[in-house]
Amino acid sequence: MTLSGVFAVRGLITIGSIIAVTQLTGQAISPAFQLSAKISQYKAVKPVCNQIIEVSSVVSAEEDLQLPAMSQSLSLSDVSFSYNDTPVLKHITANFIKGKKYAVVGKSGSGKSTLLKVIAGFYDDYSGSITVDGKDTSICDLTLISQDTFLFDDTIRNNITLFGDYSEADIMSVVRLSGLEDVIEGLEAGLDTQVEENGSRFSGGEKQRIAIARALLHKKTLMLFDEATSSLDNENANKIEATIKGLTDITCIFVTHKLQGHALRGYDGIFVMDNGEIAENGKYQELIEKNGLFHNLYSAGK
Ligand code: ADP
Repeated sequence: MTLSGVFAVRGLITIGSIIAVTQLTGQAISPAFQLSAKISQYKAVKPVCNQIIEVSSVVSAEEDLQLPAMSQSLSLSDVSFSYNDTPVLKHITANFIKGKKYAVVGKSGSGKSTLLKVIAGFYDDYSGSITVDGKDTSICDLTLISQDTFLFDDTIRNNITLFGDYSEADIMSVVRLSGLEDVIEGLEAGLDTQVEENGSRFSGGEKQRIAIARALLHKKTLMLFDEATSSLDNENANKIEATIKGLTDITCIFVTHKLQGHALRGYDGIFVMDNGEIAENGKYQELIEKNGLFHNLYSAGK
């Protein structure tokens, strides 16, 4: 541009040529800048892509990669876990029997979510042991439904089936069980509605219901709910909890804040956590009669 200015002063080129040079230079410089940004994005994403390719090749190499379903019980024995040297779970011993429904309650920060994450296999640097059907492995076929459900940018149907081959009747049955029927009826394209980027067009409660339908369709026999129905209105939350409690073959562990008698009475066992420990456990009536921590939490929550 400077050079074209000099040439114009000396009368070697016209003013029109300067304008042309300015415009053309812009056309060349802006893509050059964009290219340098793209190169750094490409470099940043490359290790992630390589990892995905590596993992997917392992999965496809082991075609029958089917995790064992829990058929009797899940047991934690003296399990302790720390986040960066801060103990969060301390000497947890608990037994969960197939088909039973459990609640984990306690003040915020007492370690309830961490307990579910350790059971779900998010962390393996815990001490103590976790056994499934007496075998020393924490890996079994389970699902963790948490407050922030991930949805793929695809249709509701594909988010429920995860691209598996399921009959319309099976899909509609889990849609009803998870309380999604009303939501889907209100959409023009029904099950084939696009959920858009991470389900931005749905509320937290609706996303949770999609996650519940997904878990039910894939017949997970161990379901962990981390405040899973927290974003739902009370009526829907109670309906879904009642449905899930009625599924006989499925073992459920609910982390819940809802300390309401009618909901808590339905559990086969309640674990009360306090500062990383299981302070009390038992059925609702036993815990109320104990007149301890659970009684205090329950009275405060009423
Ligand atoms: P709860 O579910 O009972 O509210 P959490 O299991 O979420 O409790 O947390 C227990 C403790 O661990 C809290 O003190 C919390 O701050 C801490 N904690 C939770 N997640 C992490 C993490 N990823 N890194 C470090 N500390 C964490």
